[in-house]
Amino acid sequence: MTICETQNLRRYYGHGEEAVKAVDGVSFSITQGSFTAITGPSGSGKSTLLHLLGGLDRPTEGKVLFRGKDLYANREDALSILRRRQFGFVFQSYNLVRELTGYENMVLPLMLDKRKPDDAYLNRLIDILGIRERLDHLPGAMSGGQQQRFAIARALANKPEILFADEPTGNLDGQAGRLVVDLLRELNRELGVTLVLVTHDLGVAEQAERILHLTDGKIVRDSGEAAK
Ligand code: ADP
Ligand code: MG
Repeated sequence: MTICETQNLRRYYGHGEEAVKAVDGVSFSITQGSFTAITGPSGSGKSTLLHLLGGLDRPTEGKVLFRGKDLYANREDALSILRRRQFGFVFQSYNLVRELTGYENMVLPLMLDKRKPDDAYLNRLIDILGIRERLDHLPGAMSGGQQQRFAIARALANKPEILFADEPTGNLDGQAGRLVVDLLRELNRELGVTLVLVTHDLGVAEQAERILHLTDGKIVRDSGEAAK
């Protein structure tokens, strides 16, 4: 089943001759529960595409469908609720609140949304991510890899349907980066959360079931097309 689809999606910055065509006519669909990597050189439009998929931007042209509905037909307030409840985001920077413990950071989105934590689910997240020993620590007392694991826990705390990750290993050394990717893949398998991961690192992209290669805002190769 398709969870997310783009139709002739474009995002241009500026107008006319000088316009930067960050995303330039992209059409594909993502299967629920799958793990897709979007890769390509710096400036190829990966982040712009991910932001469009995640409801963080507005297309210049074309559509993003989420569960068959036009994502950007939503008004900004409805879009922000949809983002908060159905989508999770992980970025290169961990953006944990320095004054809060690991656990408090993890449940912060639930608190802000006035929702009760599902303790059984949160415990499962904590175990998969291996962060139980750090729950009471402040971010400043954690390694980069540990902080990113808490950022992933925070992104998944509200049981989103899709997890969007933009260069989640960008600030980590090789070993910590590999662990984070392994954990993302395990979360995708164990929880069934759809995973869309942007990376310029082909070694990271190769952990996915499907790789979309972007160049100059266009899909130049889709490993999923060959598999069909
Ligand atoms: P990637 O994530 O693959 O490095 P981006 O999606 O960040 O690529 O950028 C794609 C292109 O769009 C680049 O040429 C970049 O300079 C341009 N771009 C991205 N964001 C903006 C912006 N806010 N204003 C103008 N140009 C932008
Ligand atoms: Mg980027």
